[in-house]
Amino acid sequence: MLTKYWNMRWGRALLMIALMATMASVMSQRAAAQGALRVVTTLPDLESIAKHIGGDHVETFSIAAGFQNPHFVDPKPSFIRQLSRADLFVTVGLDLESGWVPPLLNSARNPGILQGAPGYVDASVNVPLLQTPTSVTREQGDIHVYGNPHYWLDPARGKIIAKNILDGLVRLQPENRSYFEGNLERFNEEMDMHIAEWLAQMEPYKGARIVAYHNSWPYLAERFGLDVVDFLEPKPGIPPTPSQLAKIIRLMSEEDIGVIIIEPYFKTDAADLVARKTNGEVVVLATSVGAEESIRTYFDLFDYNVDKLVESFGDPN
Ligand SMILES: [Zn+2]
Repeated sequence: MLTKYWNMRWGRALLMIALMATMASVMSQRAAAQGALRVVTTLPDLESIAKHIGGDHVETFSIAAGFQNPHFVDPKPSFIRQLSRADLFVTVGLDLESGWVPPLLNSARNPGILQGAPGYVDASVNVPLLQTPTSVTREQGDIHVYGNPHYWLDPARGKIIAKNILDGLVRLQPENRSYFEGNLERFNEEMDMHIAEWLAQMEPYKGARIVAYHNSWPYLAERFGLDVVDFLEPKPGIPPTPSQLAKIIRLMSEEDIGVIIIEPYFKTDAADLVARKTNGEVVVLATSVGAEESIRTYFDLFDYNVDKLVESFGDPN
């Protein structure tokens, strides 16, 4: 009788323990799902910064690849799926992605990541812009209407992008504020250290005059003291014309300019032609993380570009 009673008690206790274990596992699974915020960015540079700040509280996905032209990205069903499940959406803004982001957001039907919602981060907030027009004249073509949108190519502005991403993460997970802020602090410290090194490497070439294919480089040029004097594109987004190329060839010959910078996603024939006629050199710089396999982080992006520039300018002595 007593044995039976004990057996019943044990049975009940074991059942309770099993139930509690199941509940704990369900709750921890739910916590894990809540823990990792799904961050979708337009560019891999924003994704890299989001990883630095979000750490193990984020899962990230970048819509564009680093070797693509960020102004023109073809929509894919997988992008819509990613956006429909996203907690946070991070965009360069201005009009950089205006041709492809609005249709993707419309199709994703996720009110939490629309402009004005807590899950929407415009990375350009508080970023000092260059080449902002005094009126909308389309003088800068149809794709740089609100000022030059390629601001992530200045590593110091990367710190402002990081702060904007932090603000978005804190809106969604205020309980992890100090974790995100610690990551931001480390990111900024690392960035300052790197910037000092990059500036030292570029110091001998201050004031160097160069030509570029597309107007992607004003922020990089300003940071490192380069002077981009003209572009193979007559206007941003308009392919090189014979008259523009003739003008560039004249300019480079007369002013002894020897370097033509080109983005990885443009055909090099026009730049090669100009280089042949002027004894110049075509230098492919990376516009984003992932443009080359070795460029895995936002820091790598500038390591790569600074090395490439130093190599192309040659020995300062
Ligand atoms: Zn552009």
